Amino acid sequence: MNNGHRSPNTPSKMEVFDYLIVGAGFAGSVLAERLARGSGKHVLLVDRRPHFGGNAYDHYDDSGILVHKYGPHIFHTNSKEVFDYLSRFTEWRQYQHKVLASVDGQLLPIPINLDTINRLYGLSLNSFQMEEFLAGRAEHRDPVRTSEDVVVNKVGRELYEKFFRGYTRKQWGLDPSDLDAQVTARVPTRTNRDDRYFTDAYQAMPKQGFTRLFSNMLDHPNIGLLLNADYREVRNIIPYRELIYTGPVDEFFDFRFGKLPYRCLEFKHETLNKPLHQPVAVINYPNDCAFTRVTEFKHLTGQEHPKTSIVYEYPLADGDPYYPIPRGENAELYRKYQELADQAGVHFVGRLATYKYYNMDQVVAQALTLYARLCKLNRAEATDRYIEPPLRTVTFPAKTKRGRSLSSRRRALLPQE
Ligand SMILES: Cc1cc2nc3c(=O)[nH]c(=O)nc-3n(C[C@H](O)[C@H](O)[C@H](O)COP(=O)(O)OP(=O)(O)OC[C@H]3O[C@@H](n4cnc5c(N)ncnc54)[C@H](O)[C@@H]3O)c2cc1C
Repeated sequence: MNNGHRSPNTPSKMEVFDYLIVGAGFAGSVLAERLARGSGKHVLLVDRRPHFGGNAYDHYDDSGILVHKYGPHIFHTNSKEVFDYLSRFTEWRQYQHKVLASVDGQLLPIPINLDTINRLYGLSLNSFQMEEFLAGRAEHRDPVRTSEDVVVNKVGRELYEKFFRGYTRKQWGLDPSDLDAQVTARVPTRTNRDDRYFTDAYQAMPKQGFTRLFSNMLDHPNIGLLLNADYREVRNIIPYRELIYTGPVDEFFDFRFGKLPYRCLEFKHETLNKPLHQPVAVINYPNDCAFTRVTEFKHLTGQEHPKTSIVYEYPLADGDPYYPIPRGENAELYRKYQELADQAGVHFVGRLATYKYYNMDQVVAQALTLYARLCKLNRAEATDRYIEPPLRTVTFPAKTKRGRSLSSRRRALLPQE
């Protein structure tokens, strides 16, 4: 199958990739790794960015500090399978993520816990008293339909206004009363003093960063990598049998039913001439400032350095697609694209291709599921299979529409004759 994209100009001697994979984030990279290392397939991984790793890409900035280009990425999962699989490509640094919120001139733990309430109101409640305190303020909502309903139903209007409303309005450009319940349902309220942001069984950061993890994952002779190349630019000159697509699904179909709405972000990176800037990795600013949060990377990476690098996140209406906006009408629009996708003979996987607000571990699991299906394997076989391939390296001969030689960008590895 080549989905009608094979060009008549394809040189007759050019060999055919088993899979063309669009997007070198977690979805595309896991599939490239598994298809190559697990099933001996020959794959070409294409990304329009100048790097692999997708949104999880990290790099050393001009001062030599490891930063996450597209905002902080913290690995957490309850899936042993996903954790064990990724552990083949990295060692881990144990890390428990903590977040503070700047509210009424104080930095207070978020998710809301016993300390948050005691410090905000100058009280010394115990856990039982906090339960009573919240019960006395909660406004019963039935049904719980929107993000506002979720929070007001649990903690009442005042805490909702202080911690959630402003943040959500900035983040999504919508009032919580206009957003599906799932957005704020992700954030718990605790009556104990647990100040961890996540409570998953596995929480850790790749010891040498995400990009190194990806580099180890993709270091296989059956995987060709083509960066700075948009799928639309190369689809007619790369011969392939099957297509795996991890980019935006609406873009794939030329926005036939209109654009799927995304929330975008601008990242403002800064390096400060001091060893530390803030007490924890992330501080949320629910009410003041145009940015939503500030991240200091050294807390995530454990790097020692006389300077420190931070990033401010400014939510925007336009730009690169980051967060699918969870509203009923958007889900409806996605369903129309999904119907097209189901008939396209293409495998759509990942956050953009399935228009879902997925974390990294969920995308890894989704990619492993697709791999198992493609190669007709059970789940254990899908993660464990390993095949040693015989290979040779050649220079890719094709030219792009603009006449640039692909080989000048990146050598691709082609199957043996
Ligand atoms: C600000 C932010 C913070 C996050 N924090 C966390 C976190 O702390 N923990 C967590 O688990 N998850 C987090 N996530 C989610 C995480 O980024 C995603 O789950 C994960 O990156 C999704 O991987 P993916 O491969 O589906 O998509 P992506 O990483 O987006 O990769 C898709 C790739 O496809 C490429 N592409 C798209 N279209 C084309 C095309 N036409 N041609 C060629 N290439 C194309 C893109 O350039 C991109 O590199 C965060 C996301 C954001 C935006």
